[in-house]
Amino acid sequence: MHKTTRVMSAHKHVALVAHDNYKTELLRWVEENKSTLQQHFLYATGTTGTMLSKETGLAIKSKISGPMGGDQQVGAMIAEGKIDVLIFFWDPLNAVPHDPDVKALLRIASVWNIPVATNRASATFIFKSDLINQEVEIEIPDYNAYLSERV
Ligand code: PGA
Repeated sequence: MHKTTRVMSAHKHVALVAHDNYKTELLRWVEENKSTLQQHFLYATGTTGTMLSKETGLAIKSKISGPMGGDQQVGAMIAEGKIDVLIFFWDPLNAVPHDPDVKALLRIASVWNIPVATNRASATFIFKSDLINQEVEIEIPDYNAYLSERV
């Protein structure tokens, strides 16, 4: 796969998603990292975002609830280069009805090479990194080259 690059601005577009058993955990993490999160543009799946903005007062753009299509909306934003960081506290111990969407979200985040945290420690490592508040160039698939090889 040919590569190109894209520049993430210092003010990142961050998506926040938590499965039901991890919503309290994500809320606690968001409260701890509120001052950093405030410097970025925040997005979330429906229930997560509504809960987080109610509890913390943060401005968060909520998509549809995950099982109703919200994971796919976030995934589409990643494919369009509109999300820079994914914080996704998915539930490794319980089945969810939208398991294919969970896999798809993690998969598309890997395709587009964005930083992903699937648990609290990873989220903290990302947010304590100097890069979170800096302009960063990342490698991404060269879509135009991909397309021209296929047609
Ligand atoms: P929710 O969706 O924030 O609407 O609960 C999260 C998810 O299951 O992806």
